[in-house]
Amino acid sequence: MLNEKVKGTFLRNEPMAKHTSYGIGGPAQAYITPADENDLKQILIFAKDKGINTFFAGSGSNLLVADEGFEGIVITLGKSFTKLGIDGNKMEAQVGVMLGKIVKETIKRNLTGMESMIGVPGTLGGALIMNAGAFGGEISNCLDIIKVMLINGETKIYQKDDIVFSYRNSTFPKDEILLSATFTLNEKPANEIQYDRAKASKGRKDTQPLRFRSAGSVFKNPKPDLAAGYLIDQAGLKGSRIGDAEISTKHANFFINHGKAKAKDIVDLILLAKKTVLEKFDVNLELEIRTLGFTPGTFEI
Ligand SMILES: Cc1cc2nc3c(=O)[nH]c(=O)nc-3n(C[C@H](O)[C@H](O)[C@H](O)COP(=O)(O)OP(=O)(O)OC[C@H]3O[C@@H](n4cnc5c(N)ncnc54)[C@H](O)[C@@H]3O)c2cc1C
Repeated sequence: MLNEKVKGTFLRNEPMAKHTSYGIGGPAQAYITPADENDLKQILIFAKDKGINTFFAGSGSNLLVADEGFEGIVITLGKSFTKLGIDGNKMEAQVGVMLGKIVKETIKRNLTGMESMIGVPGTLGGALIMNAGAFGGEISNCLDIIKVMLINGETKIYQKDDIVFSYRNSTFPKDEILLSATFTLNEKPANEIQYDRAKASKGRKDTQPLRFRSAGSVFKNPKPDLAAGYLIDQAGLKGSRIGDAEISTKHANFFINHGKAKAKDIVDLILLAKKTVLEKFDVNLELEIRTLGFTPGTFEI
């Protein structure tokens, strides 16, 4: 039995609603936080040998999980791989470190490169997979190397250039789990870093519905100068509500959960937005959020 092998935390039939910023999602067969690399290795080998589906999660702030849940195990390094070391302008962090902590610790040392990401929720692992970014900065900008584990439990190092990082995307193989990364940051006068941080923080508070549960932007912007939120707004969909899910009146690319929303409600809003924007502007919106547990074709119109 897998639960007897795991040294970290093993939660059986765990509602994913507890592990996503949406607060939505049915149960995963198991939700596992490995204690360390060796523990993770044993879990991956067990899953591979038994043909069990695995999904790697960070803190679930960019994730929509189906109401039916996920037939497989969700592995997260969010609470256990949390070492962060900064020496001069070199930073090494395990993937479970929260972005907020990285922003805080780098700013403290007058290091620039992370401050624009103030307020982006999530772990470093999720940020690297998504190539998270905000207000002109992207997590991959100052990246040097990334360490991953393969499904056979072996570890591997990638140089930054081995992976293509683009707008909210990276080309890490799907069956590899990120473990840690190193960065080289630049020094900058404290007042300039603080100014950029405050500007990003204000920009976020002014434009985003931060009081409500969401997963940030649902769709990618079709072009750098054409925001998905603008198109959804122009299509007249701000404030559209299905069940307890709503297209935010503050930021049309944020879909919010007023408390009891189901994944199905968010899916229906996604399909409504895609269909209306396609009809009105001939633009096919592409999902930015990641999805888990849905049948293929769920998000096609
Ligand atoms: C209010 C709000 C504001 C937001 N603003 C922004 C923003 O400005 N910019 C932005 O880019 N994003 C934004 N987001 C989205 C989200 O915060 C980011 O995408 C974040 O990087 C996700 O991190 P996570 O740890 O929660 O990842 P998760 O949502 O758990 O996972 C995201 C993806 O990464 C994969 N993954 C996670 N960890 C690993 C790992 N160790 N190994 C392999 N795969 C892994 C998952 O399988 C999934 O595909 C926002 C979200 C919210 C709720």
